[in-house]
Amino acid sequence: MKTKPHTPQKSDEKGAVRLRPGKEESLLRHHPWVFSGAIATLPADIEEGDIVTVTDCDGNVLGTGHFQIGSISVRILEFGIDTLPEDFYFKRLVSAYTLRRSLGLIRTDNDCFRLVHGEGDFLPGLIVDIYGDTAVMQAHSPGMHLARRAIAEALTRLPEARIRNVYYKSETTLPYKAGLDPENEYLVGSYDGNIATENGLQFNIDWLKGQKTGFFVDQRENRSLLEKFAAGRTVLNMFCYTGGFSVYAMRGGAVTVDSVDSSTKAAALTDANIALNFPDDPRHRTYAEDAFKFLADMPGDKYDLIVLDPPAFAKHRGAIKNGLIGYRKLNAKAFEKIKPGGILFTFSCSQAISRDMFRMAVFTAAARSGRKVRILHQLSQPADHPIDISHPEGEYLKGLVLYVE
Ligand code: SAH
Repeated sequence: MKTKPHTPQKSDEKGAVRLRPGKEESLLRHHPWVFSGAIATLPADIEEGDIVTVTDCDGNVLGTGHFQIGSISVRILEFGIDTLPEDFYFKRLVSAYTLRRSLGLIRTDNDCFRLVHGEGDFLPGLIVDIYGDTAVMQAHSPGMHLARRAIAEALTRLPEARIRNVYYKSETTLPYKAGLDPENEYLVGSYDGNIATENGLQFNIDWLKGQKTGFFVDQRENRSLLEKFAAGRTVLNMFCYTGGFSVYAMRGGAVTVDSVDSSTKAAALTDANIALNFPDDPRHRTYAEDAFKFLADMPGDKYDLIVLDPPAFAKHRGAIKNGLIGYRKLNAKAFEKIKPGGILFTFSCSQAISRDMFRMAVFTAAARSGRKVRILHQLSQPADHPIDISHPEGEYLKGLVLYVE
């Protein structure tokens, strides 16, 4: 999408959010967040979720977005205007869909992908994942919550997408203080089968009870890369959740694949997905166990391809130090145990931990292990999780593929 250079205009609207002098800088560079500390005055009658115009201290319009109470007070939906264009959500969704189509993600052998990645699709506060003809939608802001029905309706109008069901899943994603008490519910259609296809492999997606929207679509390309390394190897998939990496490893010709997750529900999902693609294949086993314990107890030299894809160890800035200790410990165990000539796929999905910090944690673990380690690939989130260049906070997934001698 082309954006015109921004020329502020005078607001003729009363009731705008007015910034303090000099606080317009980041908005002029199209960063979409307005922090509460930047605000001089708020309209008296403003409520959470309202669509508001933001102006500089002189009343020049900077943009329009969703208001909420909290450290991020406004998430800008469009810069340089004081009224959103008609059918705003539909237009943004069409643009998001067009990008996914041009990326080659919409095919008969691939019908699951992320359609909306918040700020990365210029829809801050909104996530939409597509599984076949179902869209699973998450609101992270009161504004998106209030707009949920309009967005759901717009999703069904996407010309080629043929979306028949829209499931809204925001019970745990909205700020608690907003007091919105969102219910998880179908806004359009209902449940009618939940098998999605990713690169020709089939997955049961449990958006009702599963984590996030039911599947981690963000690892699709990294799973594909793993498939290429799998032939002839003994694979250990730690933190397997739905068994995504395991299913790809099986197709790639792994000798054996062991999947580990502390959640028995996740272990059952992995079993179901293996059975769906490789029924009665004796190469695969699932263990419902703690990853750290499993790594400590397992014999050395058993696996020559290990995947470490843990949950975010640092969910906010305050947790960075402990998070890095966690990554270091986890990777140290893998370096200690992996067979010589082994391949380690190691990830961090902690937004608060930068690429450099993660690499340093893994490097420290490697150095302490005394193994010779080389980086073969540096991985990130896929193109259907784009990062708005003005909003570097959108980057979260990073990974390394390592060759361990
Ligand atoms: N690799 C997965 C996503 C992993 S999500 C994929 O490609 O889809 C993180 C998973 O780690 C969750 O399923 C969670 O149940 C599991 N988990 C969290 N703590 C764990 C622990 N200590 N040991 C093992 N699994 C754990």
